[in-house]
Amino acid sequence: MTIRATVWGENVHETSNQIVSEIYPEGMHAQIAKQLAVDKNIVARTATLQQPEHGLTHEVLAETDVLLWWGHAAHGEVADEIVERVTNRVWQGMGLIVLHSGHFSKIFKRLMGTPCALKWREAGERERIFVVNPGHAIAAGLPEYFELENEEMYGEPFSVPEPMETVFISWFQGGEVFRSGLTYRRGRGNIFYFQPGHETYPTYYDETIGKVLRNAVNWAFNPQAVSSDPSDAPNVPVEEALEAIEERGPKLHKKGEKGLR
Ligand code: ZN
Repeated sequence: MTIRATVWGENVHETSNQIVSEIYPEGMHAQIAKQLAVDKNIVARTATLQQPEHGLTHEVLAETDVLLWWGHAAHGEVADEIVERVTNRVWQGMGLIVLHSGHFSKIFKRLMGTPCALKWREAGERERIFVVNPGHAIAAGLPEYFELENEEMYGEPFSVPEPMETVFISWFQGGEVFRSGLTYRRGRGNIFYFQPGHETYPTYYDETIGKVLRNAVNWAFNPQAVSSDPSDAPNVPVEEALEAIEERGPKLHKKGEKGLR
């Protein structure tokens, strides 16, 4: 079965910072999509902040099984209407993979319900990523640990809800540790947060990182996704109760009323 992935890129530092544009001349989203395309079961498209509706129209989201999100400098420029649209799709069953500085994106904070804050340091230090859940689908084919020569330090405490599963824990050269691969489920949607990917380092060219991204897309895909309104809250009239009951007691709502929101 083909999995339709959409890689959303903020595309700001790639067009405004020379170091970043030299590493990612076509944008980080394009390189991430290339990594996904190594898996013949994944068809990857891209979308960026600058496109109409940030490239996330109703049509695009309806055709997206898994959305990947990279943002950093312009979280505040993402329209609330699009955040709600993406939230709704996650509840319907679209997978969501939040990358690196996407921890502070509106969509991740909306779905987590917590500040999602962390410690950080930009010193190009080595990161050692430990697989702490080797039986997990996202860790398939990975060694016990792998290293990135240059990464931004993200350190604990990371103010996210307790995850469903912890797949990776990272150690940084400066001594801090971080829960770098976490899973959640919101509605029908599978969510994976994955920490590596600072824009001044070539992280998304790394082969092991590519494997994690492909594994994560396969894991996040939910064939039981639906297109119906996940906020629908139907009233069940007395006469349609599963067992015959007699109406009694005082009532607040009128017959056929939609209910309060
Ligand atoms: Zn960063």
